[in-house]
Amino acid sequence: MRQIAPYLSVVVPCMNEEETIPELARRLSAAIAPWADRAEILLVDDGSTDGTWAAIAAAGREFPQIAGLRLSANRGHQVALTAGLEAAKGQRIFMLDADLQDPPELLREMMALMDQGYDVVFGRRAQRKGEGLFKKASAYLFYRVLNALSDVPIPKDTGDFRIVSRRALDAVLAMPERARFVRGMFAWAGYRQIGLEYVREPRRAGETKYPLRAMLRFATDALTGFSARPLRFAIRLAFFSLLVSFLTGLYVIFSFIWFSTAPGWASMLLAMSFFSGIQLLTLGIMGEYIGRIYMEAKKRPLYFISEEAHGHSQIEPLRI
Ligand code: UDP
Ligand code: MG
Repeated sequence: MRQIAPYLSVVVPCMNEEETIPELARRLSAAIAPWADRAEILLVDDGSTDGTWAAIAAAGREFPQIAGLRLSANRGHQVALTAGLEAAKGQRIFMLDADLQDPPELLREMMALMDQGYDVVFGRRAQRKGEGLFKKASAYLFYRVLNALSDVPIPKDTGDFRIVSRRALDAVLAMPERARFVRGMFAWAGYRQIGLEYVREPRRAGETKYPLRAMLRFATDALTGFSARPLRFAIRLAFFSLLVSFLTGLYVIFSFIWFSTAPGWASMLLAMSFFSGIQLLTLGIMGEYIGRIYMEAKKRPLYFISEEAHGHSQIEPLRI
């Protein structure tokens, strides 16, 4: 590979993005032009099933700074991003989505803020174009709930679109957890951070890779990774249900003594379903955390790299 260490690294996770990669490569190469002689662009293919890898290799032949990493299977956005971050060698690391929802042209402004001494400059979505009402509403709610629960403030309405310093990145890479919620990890890392507002463009081509299931998983990863409060909530719920059953018990006893009436089966059924509901919810919350302990305890590697492509590129299969 190159002799001098790159100053700027760009990391882009790509899953089934063959249609956007040519434009992405073009715009990124233009955006890094002022630093072109000491920059690298790492496109991480997250187990795509379309022509993404071929598109990355083609981009690498066209633009000297572009290199590709191919994961052995689909591991998800956050892991693909982590793979790129671990491979990045720059002093400043710029990350963005492959679908061009995050404009690469903002790099210049972000670099200028970094020059002022910031360690993290994250993009804050002032407006989201071309995304459905459900996506916007759920994202809005997600960042508010997360902040209400999390012990560290996590900037609202941000994504992973950001530039970070080497020491901020090293801090995040020193965190060994398997469930990666990268933007939260940067928030937790600390250092000087600042947001830069931008308008999030609609996806350039293709579909979102975050269907509802992936969104829920992402949200629970974030919540359980950054807060133990749901567990405390479960305990409070348990106390609350004890109180309710104690009061109902008193009511039953006194109404039997004074009026010789016992309440009918309807109230019993209601109480049973109420308490079993609470029990299942509490168990579910605990299960979520236990599941995560299990995943963490296994300490599996997050990903494997199956192929690499270097700039001006002969694609070299990784020798194992
Ligand atoms: N992505 C990935 N692996 C996945 C899902 C997504 O690498 O399993 C990438 C995707 O190619 C894109 C980024 O993560 O570059 C964000 O995904 P997407 O744009 O679909 O999310 P949205 O913007 O709809 O939230
Ligand atoms: Mg997107």
